[in-house]
Amino acid sequence: MILSPPSTLDAMDLEVTKQEWNFSLQNHTSVTNMEKNETADGNEDSKWKDLPMELLMRILRLVDDRTVIIGSGVCTGWREAICIGVQELSLSWCKLNMSKLLLSIAPKFARLQSLNLRQNQHQLDDQAVEMVAKYCHDLRALDLSNSTQLTDTSIDALARGCNHLEKLNISGCSKVTDSALIFLAAKCNRLRHLNLCGCCPAASDRALLALAQNCCGLQSLNLGWCDRVTDVGVTGLAQGCPEMRAVDLCSCVLITDKSVVALAENCPRLRSLGLYYCQNITDTAMYSLVNSSIYGAGKENSKHKSSNIRYNTEPVSIQGSQRCRRSNGGRQSCGISERIVAASRDYMETVLSDQEGYGLVQLNVSQCTFLSAPAVQAVCDTFPALHTCPEKHSLIISGCLNLTSVHCVCAIEAQRERKSRAAASDYPAGILNARAIR
Ligand SMILES: [Zn+2]
Repeated sequence: MILSPPSTLDAMDLEVTKQEWNFSLQNHTSVTNMEKNETADGNEDSKWKDLPMELLMRILRLVDDRTVIIGSGVCTGWREAICIGVQELSLSWCKLNMSKLLLSIAPKFARLQSLNLRQNQHQLDDQAVEMVAKYCHDLRALDLSNSTQLTDTSIDALARGCNHLEKLNISGCSKVTDSALIFLAAKCNRLRHLNLCGCCPAASDRALLALAQNCCGLQSLNLGWCDRVTDVGVTGLAQGCPEMRAVDLCSCVLITDKSVVALAENCPRLRSLGLYYCQNITDTAMYSLVNSSIYGAGKENSKHKSSNIRYNTEPVSIQGSQRCRRSNGGRQSCGISERIVAASRDYMETVLSDQEGYGLVQLNVSQCTFLSAPAVQAVCDTFPALHTCPEKHSLIISGCLNLTSVHCVCAIEAQRERKSRAAASDYPAGILNARAIR
């Protein structure tokens, strides 16, 4: 079946055109074959290759990523147009042969600025990442999370080929070592956001010091489960990266109050701090936050705007739902837990990009069992965006039996209301009736 493409932009319904275009491409090359064979053969008989470029670009913005990839195989003209027009791509939907697919398509997407290779099946290998580094020199954001097979070879290639990287997620890449991370820090000075969660061999103190020395614009760093990290690395980082807004030290069991004191003293824009299972942390760390240079903690805040960002667990915006569909490769389903994780990620991204907001909006002290209620309550009172109530839940204190009396303002108000309602219902009915008659 050959569908007739519209020749002008005036009398067209983009949505209908998109569906017909999708249908035409699905006939052109099946997605299953594409995943298996990593290429799409051209169908020279299709009139769709003569589609006006402006219209092609508009349709590309509406379709999912696997359709874009199929489109890149239709003809030379489309290939060139897609190379110029597509700056963002996700292959996280790819369940088979992600590496082979990437080897095939990387040269066609040389202008990419954002590439999501997040996966569950650990299929990505060094050769594929080297191909990305060879062709995609404009990359700003790269997600390689859960790529457990990747080694220093991948990180070295990225350091040489992708110097513009601002956002890199290598969480779960447990074969990468600190030598590669030190090299990356030296070459990619524009790094703003780095996720090293679970990268124990990479996240050493000397790697953190290299980041502090070379990437002074770093704004967020996830060091979750990196149990080699000590106060030496975190203190150096706090001193070298004053723009830091989010630090996750979840389960960094060696750190002590010194790390928190250094962050409190050197990072005035700090918005989020994760200290889950950091069991050396004491009240000293909490009072250092209260008395810190973090905007909102002292008199400094008078010149800054308070943050009004709200936590929304429903990704309601059109953009958000489109992104969700695109990353699924067109499949509509998105589980509740995935939505909550995505909403949490979106929320933190909003917080981090809010240049005017100030003060802690998230603090996780779960399992920090040495903390006392007065110290944590003082932090909660100092930063009003921290909440213990279930609706917002941004001060996380689970597993701390000492902290059951810590409450945010709305939790205290709700408690007061419950008590007054209970008191009213216990009031003798006769007295209430007598009052009502009066
Ligand atoms: Zn609250």
